Amino acid sequence: MLFVMDAIHKTKLMDGRGPARRLREQARAKIERIREQTGQTPTLATVLVGNDPASAAYVRMKRRRCDEVGMRSLLIELPAEISTETLVAEVRRLGDDPAVHGILVQHPVPRPIDRRAVFESIPIEKDVDGVTSATLGRVILGMPAFVPCTPRGIMRLLDEYHVELDGVHAVVIGRSPILGRPMASMLINRHATVTLCHSRTRALPNIVRQADVLIAAVGKPRFVQGGWIKLGAVIIDAGYNEGIIGDVDFDTCIEPASLITPVPGGVGPMTIATLIDQTADAAAMQLGVQWR
Ligand code: NAP
Repeated sequence: MLFVMDAIHKTKLMDGRGPARRLREQARAKIERIREQTGQTPTLATVLVGNDPASAAYVRMKRRRCDEVGMRSLLIELPAEISTETLVAEVRRLGDDPAVHGILVQHPVPRPIDRRAVFESIPIEKDVDGVTSATLGRVILGMPAFVPCTPRGIMRLLDEYHVELDGVHAVVIGRSPILGRPMASMLINRHATVTLCHSRTRALPNIVRQADVLIAAVGKPRFVQGGWIKLGAVIIDAGYNEGIIGDVDFDTCIEPASLITPVPGGVGPMTIATLIDQTADAAAMQLGVQWR
C-alpha cells in the first residue's frame, strides 16, 4: 500500500531539474553562436554586497552554472558599509562597460542602502534579473522584457506540465516586486483570474481553498497547509528558506494536489536557468546577433 502511495505521489511531482537542464543547453548553444559570430563571450556581472552566507551560496551556485555553459561571470564583492552613492556608481560603471551584458545585484542588499536606487541604475537592456521599474512596467503590460527570473521560471514550468491557465483561479501569496507582483501580472496576461495575497490578507486559508493554481512566495517555512488545498490544485512552491525548506507543507499538501513542485528541485533550478538564458539573449541583442 505504501509502495502504491509513493508511486502516486511521484506522478504528482513537477520536476524543475530536467526542464532547467534543457534550458541551460539551449543557452549554451546561444552562447556558442554569439562567440562564433562576434568573438565575444556573453558576460554576467554579479554584485554581492556584504557577507550574508546565504547570498554568497546563491552567487556561487549561479557562477557555477555560468561556467558550465561557457558564460563569463564577473563577481564584484563590496563591503556591507558601502554607501548607496558608491554602489550606484559601481552599477553604472558596469552598465557602461560594453564587455558586460547582464547585471545582477544579489538581494537582499544590506538595510541602510537604498535598494530601489541601486536597481534603477541598471540599464534596462542589462536588467537580466528583472528588477527595474521599467522592466516591471513592461511585464505588467505583457511587453517583451527580461522578466524577473523566478516568475518566468515558474511560467515555464507550468507550460512544461501543460497546466491550463486560461480562466482558472490562481492565488499568489506574496507581493514582492521580484516575485509575487510580476507573477500575478504574468498569470493575468495568460487569462487567469488572480487573487494576490499578502500579510494583511484576511482569512487566507479560505482564499487559498479556491485556488486551481497556487503560487506560494511567502518566505515562511511550511506555511501553506494541506487543509487549505482544493482537490486537484496545482501547487508551486517558490519558497527557499533556511535548511532548504519551502513555503508549502509538502507532506500534507501533496495529498489533495494534482501537481506540486518539490523543494529543492522545483522552482530553484528554473530560476537560475532563466537567468542564464536571459543573459545570453541580452548579449545577443547588445552585440547584434541574429538567431536565424
Ligand atoms: P519577501 O520580499 O519577503 O516577500 C514575502 C511576501 O510574503 C510579502 O509580500 C509578505 O507580505 C508576504 N507574507 C509574509 N507573511 C505572510 C503571511 N503570514 N500571510 C500572507 N502573506 C505573507 O520575499 P520574496 O523575495 O518574494 O521571496 C519569497 C520566497 O521565495 C522566499 O522563501 C524566498 O527565499 C523565495 N525565493 C526563491 C527563489 C528561487 O529561486 N527559488 C528566488 C527568490 C525568492 P507583505 O508585503 O504584506 O509584507
